Amino acid sequence: MNDHTTVTTLSTYRNETPYPFCPGCGHHSILDHLSAALMSLKVDPEKVVLVSDIGCSGLSDQYFVTSAFHGLHGRSITYATGIKLARPDLKVIVIMGDGGTGIGGAHLLNAARRNIGLTVLVFNNFNFGMTGGQHSTTTPTGAFTSTTPGGNLERPLDICATVAANGAGYVWRGTNFDKDLAERIAEAVRAECFALLDIWELCTAYYVPKNKASKKTLTTILDDLGFKAGLLHRADYPEYAAAYRADASTQRGKPGLAPRPIAPRFASQLDRPFRLVVAGSAGGKVRSAARLVGEAALLSGLWAAQRDDYPITVMTGHSIAEIVLSPREIDYTAITRPDAMILLSRDGVAKVGQQLAAMQPEDQVFALPEVAGVQTGAKVHIIDPAESSMRLSKGSVALYCIAKALKQLRIFPVEALAAAASREPSVHAEENSGVIGAALSGD
Ligand code: SF4
Repeated sequence: MNDHTTVTTLSTYRNETPYPFCPGCGHHSILDHLSAALMSLKVDPEKVVLVSDIGCSGLSDQYFVTSAFHGLHGRSITYATGIKLARPDLKVIVIMGDGGTGIGGAHLLNAARRNIGLTVLVFNNFNFGMTGGQHSTTTPTGAFTSTTPGGNLERPLDICATVAANGAGYVWRGTNFDKDLAERIAEAVRAECFALLDIWELCTAYYVPKNKASKKTLTTILDDLGFKAGLLHRADYPEYAAAYRADASTQRGKPGLAPRPIAPRFASQLDRPFRLVVAGSAGGKVRSAARLVGEAALLSGLWAAQRDDYPITVMTGHSIAEIVLSPREIDYTAITRPDAMILLSRDGVAKVGQQLAAMQPEDQVFALPEVAGVQTGAKVHIIDPAESSMRLSKGSVALYCIAKALKQLRIFPVEALAAAASREPSVHAEENSGVIGAALSGD
């Protein structure tokens, strides 16, 4: 019990509404054991959240005086995780059927792996009761259900072994007939870790008549499968929600990145939005060079926006940067007709064909010699890095061409680009400054 838990003397955690379950359904006794467990914990009902999803067991939360959250099938673990992360002081108890362990299997694995402090009660009756007794991930091999009329061919999921192997702190298996079930539930809640109780029970509407099942059948299934019952696993891993809080508390109030205020130091005569596209290849530092253009624009009192496009395989193919510079706030960042374009590779040219075709004689294209023969109505200028006064690396060509183009475009003083490069906290800052200097020193 943690400091936030209030001692209470409730005689039951049930409300007055009777359960709706079929006669003999195991859900009745599991829920009564849950109420008894909460009574023994003397926990404030408002500090308990029962989280459920779909299925007959998903009806359970409404018969308790605790807080509750009811959601989509198989997703109870996700809701419970969010609740526990936001409010680690709450006792978050998940009620799910065996159907939920299949539909929400990945959630179960990940909550166990993180050791999130949830108590998960699996109401395991080996079939989907609410929807007509279809087989589930826990249906025993050979068992008859409405979807396995010839006997189930699958081996059932060993929920306990799975979560134990993946980081759960407490794992127990038993049945709703076990006299110590309330005690085990209380123990699991107290454990403050990812605790799972795989509670075997009987669905009297479907599983029992189809398999002539009884209380004794549960033991037979256990033996046939070679599964163990009782407390199967106990581990003392750090509980995630608490560990997350502790880690976050050391970061609170600290900025992720130190702000780098940009005060305009240059003047721009730009009186309308200017749209510049840089089209190159992965590894050509297209995007980082484009970022310097934006920063130079900010240093010149302009607004700047940059949109990048590149394949999900980021080290191959094209790399496109679309830059909008404007004396006013930029509401629309897409570019259909660029005012200027810088072409650095065939990969890039292949991606900007429509924009090239939309350009008019008053627009400008700056291209490396090998991609200068493009179809466009714009005026084409050739930039040849071989004419540079310094030997350019592959990653410097983009910045060199951008600096050359900006010198002709006169959007802002080219010195702003050099100032932007010197502000960059980059290992390439010195090289970038040299490249810009080389570009600006020639014609
Ligand atoms: S259908 Fe099965 S699981 Fe649902 S209430 Fe009836 S007996 Fe219980």
